[in-house]
Amino acid sequence: MTISPGLNSWTLLAAAFVSIAACQTKPSTSTSTSTPEVRSITPPKLDGAHLGERLLCYRPMRHGSPNMSVEQVGSQTVVHNYGHGGSGWTLAPGSASYVVDLAEASPQLAARSKSEPIIVVGAGVVGLFTAYELVQSGYTNVTVVAERFDGLTSHVAAGLLAPVSMDNDPEMQKVVDRIGIDAYRFFADVARGKHPEFEGGAVVVPAYFERRSDSGLEPYVGVVMEPAKDVVLDFGNGTRREMVAYDDGIFIDTAVMMKDLHDWLRPRVKFEQRRVEHFSDLPCSVVYDCAGLGSASLNDDSKMVSVQGHLVMLKDQQPKDLQHMILIYLDEGRTESGQKVKRSFYMMPKHLPDTGPNDVGVIGGTFVEGATPATPNEAEFERMLQNARRFYGM
Ligand SMILES: Cc1cc2nc3c(=O)[nH]c(=O)nc-3n(C[C@H](O)[C@H](O)[C@H](O)COP(=O)(O)OP(=O)(O)OC[C@H]3O[C@@H](n4cnc5c(N)ncnc54)[C@H](O)[C@@H]3O)c2cc1C
Repeated sequence: MTISPGLNSWTLLAAAFVSIAACQTKPSTSTSTSTPEVRSITPPKLDGAHLGERLLCYRPMRHGSPNMSVEQVGSQTVVHNYGHGGSGWTLAPGSASYVVDLAEASPQLAARSKSEPIIVVGAGVVGLFTAYELVQSGYTNVTVVAERFDGLTSHVAAGLLAPVSMDNDPEMQKVVDRIGIDAYRFFADVARGKHPEFEGGAVVVPAYFERRSDSGLEPYVGVVMEPAKDVVLDFGNGTRREMVAYDDGIFIDTAVMMKDLHDWLRPRVKFEQRRVEHFSDLPCSVVYDCAGLGSASLNDDSKMVSVQGHLVMLKDQQPKDLQHMILIYLDEGRTESGQKVKRSFYMMPKHLPDTGPNDVGVIGGTFVEGATPATPNEAEFERMLQNARRFYGM
């Protein structure tokens, strides 16, 4: 998920926390003088009977920016595409086309035949979109090598298209914004039934934030998105909240999109399941490095960090009530294992495969830097649910 520009959105944490605790309409941050539209929202059911699976997953975050570059290592050319933090889905299609263009413009690859072998390491969203882009660009000998193909962070991610939870330096932020705009065009085509190959993996739904600056989406406005509106969300229980609405927000159904990408790639590329210890072990002179957190050790990259996220799936809801997305930033603190946590509250209309049609919705909100499965920080699940209930005035 996003936190662009950089992690700066967290500077507003204290004010947001006060506003959530009060459970009342917060003071307006709008510059507009017109009366905001009031929208009725039925909150999800958040009692124990309506809570489903608890999920933990890990964002591959790289301080400074994702690594999207071409490197010559001995006789091998390595094209890096990793470290997209909480915005891997938001950026993947644009990032894939950015690195393929970069590789084609590089002196070592400019004259290379498109029938020579290429290996893509990693089968998350970044690896699959990179393989997709290579095939679309005419490469005919692509193999995707990965240690795992299922149950990845890419499957579990919430699905908000917004460039957040990254830590980009200002120059790279401009590149990341351009890439995100390209990706928005891709998913908007999928959502609007205009994409020639994919349908059903994305939908257009309103995305609500407390402030425009929290969304990371302002660079998209006027290019691919309409300006956000000031609105008041009325939860029908006495609680109202002033928010901003991007009515052309995009929710990505990550499980559907992963399956669709696999189905599209299956007849066009080879898949091989194995762990790679060193790129030089691969019998191929061109390797695309899309290994997410695995790229940290493959490249000895000290800028890479794992950022843990907690998610609680909802069940037995009214799906029609949850066709929107909400993200607000809360406080910062330490988890029970002493790790730095940035807390937010978000709700997306996520649905996991093999669950009932009414098992829709996910509550999320943590960003725990440096956490691994050895430090699950279980107490964050309950805290996250309390924050969600406070937000809705329950
Ligand atoms: C809680 C949570 C919510 C999120 N929500 C959103 C959201 O709403 N919007 C958004 O844009 N993003 C979101 N994200 C971020 C997004 O999920 C990630 O940025 C993205 O999934 C990263 O994709 P990836 O392909 O780089 O990595 P992964 O999905 O982790 O895939 C890595 C691949 O590399 C392979 N690999 C690794 N090491 C090796 C090795 N040594 N040898 C062989 N193979 C290897 C793995 O097996 C795997 O196939 C969220 C993340 C979390 C944790």
